[in-house]
Amino acid sequence: MTVLICGAGVAGLTLGLSLHQVGVPFRIIEAIAVLRPLGFGINLQPHAVRELYDLGLKDKLERSGVLTERTSYFNNRGQEVWSEPRGRAAGYDYPQISVHRGALQMMLHETLVERCGPKVILAGAKVSEWSETPRGLEVVLTDRQYGYEIDRLRGSLLVASDGARSHTRKVLFPDAGAANWRKSMMWRGVARAMKFLDGRTMTISGTKGMKFVAYPIGDRGKTQSFVHWIADLPLTPDRDYDSQDWSRKGSIDDVLPSFADWKFDWLDIPALIGSTTDVWEWPMVDRDPLPHWTEGRVALLGDAAHPMYPIGSNGASQGILDARVLAREVGQMGAIPDALWSYDRIRRNPVNSIILANRNEGPDAVLDAVADRAPDGFDDIDTVMSEAERREFSDRYKKATGLTVEEINAQPSIIGPVSNAPVIAPAGD
Ligand SMILES: Cc1cc2nc3c(=O)[nH]c(=O)nc-3n(C[C@H](O)[C@H](O)[C@H](O)COP(=O)(O)OP(=O)(O)OC[C@H]3O[C@@H](n4cnc5c(N)ncnc54)[C@H](O)[C@@H]3O)c2cc1C
Repeated sequence: MTVLICGAGVAGLTLGLSLHQVGVPFRIIEAIAVLRPLGFGINLQPHAVRELYDLGLKDKLERSGVLTERTSYFNNRGQEVWSEPRGRAAGYDYPQISVHRGALQMMLHETLVERCGPKVILAGAKVSEWSETPRGLEVVLTDRQYGYEIDRLRGSLLVASDGARSHTRKVLFPDAGAANWRKSMMWRGVARAMKFLDGRTMTISGTKGMKFVAYPIGDRGKTQSFVHWIADLPLTPDRDYDSQDWSRKGSIDDVLPSFADWKFDWLDIPALIGSTTDVWEWPMVDRDPLPHWTEGRVALLGDAAHPMYPIGSNGASQGILDARVLAREVGQMGAIPDALWSYDRIRRNPVNSIILANRNEGPDAVLDAVADRAPDGFDDIDTVMSEAERREFSDRYKKATGLTVEEINAQPSIIGPVSNAPVIAPAGD
């Protein structure tokens, strides 16, 4: 009956907590020996936040992150092109939360260990191969660095939440080819800064060719925020983009010159970049939608199933929703391949639509459309593009990705709150 989960990222840990909630034994196998709070900012959309609240994480989440109330778009002079409320301010029943990815991962990890004990996570072991047995499967675990065999585990199902560079996906889809590169690199950093705008706003400035995203992911006293920023700039194709690695260091000098004169009256971008200690790079890549996420007793989940351009704040949220649906199906049907297929049928098409919508710039497309008409800025945005036309970019994306207020609020929660779940013994052994 045990479900083996490959990868203790946001999606894998959420799956572990959710399987515990529905009373299904599991083990998580994580390649990294010691989890550390790596990464920068991510956004959680209201339907994903609801699922984390259902897991009993409301207080921890609200303490760690920022309840984002607006998203605002600006041209490369800092003039506002479009601004709209988010989360509860937009009418959703749950907030949108911007949070440090590492803080979220650690919170999920700690909660899992509290509820299930430390043995449910086997760290420092990489899932290398697996074979189906008459009643389940056997997974071979190897050392991440040297490749020697560490152990073999038996389970009923293998769920691979092994991230954007998923080994499992490569094995299941050997002909899928390399990632699609949009020929731009995203440099990321977190810096302390004075609160800007209302201190609860995500900002996106520039155009597809040169974009700067900045938003608070935590408060530092009353006047300062921890601000996560992303600088998205074109690169020449000779850069090695296929070796995507979340721990690849970049340099401030890679980005600062391009944004040197982006000193807006609401944020001094060169000062923000200049005050950042560590900068990391990640290429703007996604992968083509897959025709199925399940094969036999193995399923892909989270980024392993659907790496997408980080546009529209959807990546981590979709991994959380995957985990909740998969756990519900396994809880109801048992740890059998049919449960994986049911998850696949429910989740794959909607998420694949998001991959495609993000390729068309998602809601950010309003910036390019306005820049085409007014490349040198404007005195009055309404003379460049009407409010209705600008709103349409955001509305179209929300409709294509199932993010309208009506749709999200009408959806029942996937499993329900954890307090209603049966109390069970620690999972896995
Ligand atoms: C170090 C790191 C930093 C990141 N930083 C950001 C960020 O700043 N902003 C952002 O938007 N997104 C970031 N992401 C991606 C983001 O976490 C995901 O888009 C989203 O949360 C969905 O997560 P996931 O669980 O599907 O994948 P991930 O969060 O990528 O987790 C995958 C996990 O699987 C493990 N793993 C991989 N292969 C194996 C294997 N063969 N066997 C066992 N374990 C394996 C990895 O070590 C990792 O812990 C980061 C991911 C990582 C791994």
